[in-house]
Amino acid sequence: MELTGWVKNYDWGRRGINSAVAQLAMANDPDFRLNEEEPYAEMWMGTHVCGVSVVKETGETLDRVLKTDLSYLFKVLSINQALSIQVHPNKCEAERLHRERPDIYKDPNHKPELAIALTPFLALVGFQPARDIKDNIDEFQPLSQLIGPEAVDQLHEAPNADSVKLCYAKLMKTDDADIARCIKAIAKDYQKELKSNGLLEVFTNVSKVFPGDVGVLSLFFLNLVRLKPGQAIYLGANEIHAYLDGDCVECMACSDNVIRAGLTPKYKDVDQLLESVIFESRHPDRKEFIPYHVDEQVQVYIPPVPDFAVIHVNIHPSLQSYKLQIQAFGSILIVLKGSRVLRLQTNQGPKEITLTRGSIVYIPVEAAPEIEFARADDCDDVDDDDFTGYIATSNYFRVP
Ligand SMILES: [Zn+2]
Repeated sequence: MELTGWVKNYDWGRRGINSAVAQLAMANDPDFRLNEEEPYAEMWMGTHVCGVSVVKETGETLDRVLKTDLSYLFKVLSINQALSIQVHPNKCEAERLHRERPDIYKDPNHKPELAIALTPFLALVGFQPARDIKDNIDEFQPLSQLIGPEAVDQLHEAPNADSVKLCYAKLMKTDDADIARCIKAIAKDYQKELKSNGLLEVFTNVSKVFPGDVGVLSLFFLNLVRLKPGQAIYLGANEIHAYLDGDCVECMACSDNVIRAGLTPKYKDVDQLLESVIFESRHPDRKEFIPYHVDEQVQVYIPPVPDFAVIHVNIHPSLQSYKLQIQAFGSILIVLKGSRVLRLQTNQGPKEITLTRGSIVYIPVEAAPEIEFARADDCDDVDDDDFTGYIATSNYFRVP
C-alpha cells in the first residue's frame, strides 16, 4: 500500500522548499501545495492518532485498514531552530503521568527515540562529564553566581551525578529575571570564552530565538553533538536532549509524551523533569549509536527496546536486484533517493510498486520472508544514483 504522510507545520521547521519535509511531501503527493512562508517541520508515517497516514489508493487511514496500531512512529524532521530541551518518561512514569495529568501527557506509553542524520545535524544529548560542567561553571562566573556557592562547592568537592543534579536543579529553579540577566552578562562579557569552547554560534542562535530562556544556560551542562549524514543517536527513557539544527529520519515508540526543560514557550514541568532525568554523564564522543552492518547494501539500527528498529537500504545502480530478508511485521518504507521497482507478496498475490524519491510504502506481514528491489528496466540511462531508503519496523532483531 502506498501512503501519504502527515505534515506538521511546527514553528521550528525549515521554511518552504528548503525543508526536506516539504520536498518529500511534494514528491509524494501531487495535491501538496507548497507555501514558501510556511515551516514544514515533520512528516509522520504510522498510525498515531495525532497524524495518521492515509492509503493513497482508497483514501482510508492506515489504522482503519490495519485494524491495529503499529508499535512505532516514523518521521522525517527538518529543523531550522532548536526544539525544546526534553526527556521522555519511562513506561511506568508515562502510565502514572497520563493517569494523573492526561491534558499534558496524552498517552500512557514510553517514547524512546532514534534519530539518523540526513544532513549535518546538531543536537544536545545527555549531561557532560561532571568535571567539564565544573570547568564551565568556573569559567563563566555569572553562571557560578546564579547557581550559588553551596552547590558549586559541592561540585568542586565531588564532581559526580549528585552534585551535577544539585547545580542543575538550582539553575532550573532560578526565577526568569535572574536567568535573563545571567544570559545577558555572558553574551556581553564572555564572547572569547564562548568561542574557545565552540559555543559562540549556538549560544548566539538559541538566545536570539529564545531570549531569557533557561535552556540557553543548559549549553554549559549538556553535550553538544555533531552528527554527519548516516550517524545516529539513540535517546532512551529520561535521557535529556534537544535537536538544534539539520534534517533527520526519526523513529520512536508510538507516543507523544514529552517532559520539557527549556527552549520552549510551552509548559515546563521542572519538578517532574528533575525527578525523571538521568544525571549520569558521558563524553559526547560516546553518544553515537552504531548500526549493525548486514552487508554492503544494508545496515540496521537496533535499539534496546522491542518497539522499533530502522533498516537503512542503500543500493548501488550496478546491482540489478537486491533481495532484503524481512520478518512478518508491518513495516514502513520511505524512499529518499533513486528509483527501483519493489516486488513483494501481499494477501492479494505478488505486487510491483515503482519507487521514487518521496515514495512511502506500507510493507505488510505477508511480504515476509523477503522483498526485492529490482532495477527499473525502462530507465537504465537515467539512474546513476544510489537508491536510498529507510524502513521502520518492529524490533525483531533484538536479542532477548
Ligand atoms: Zn525527544
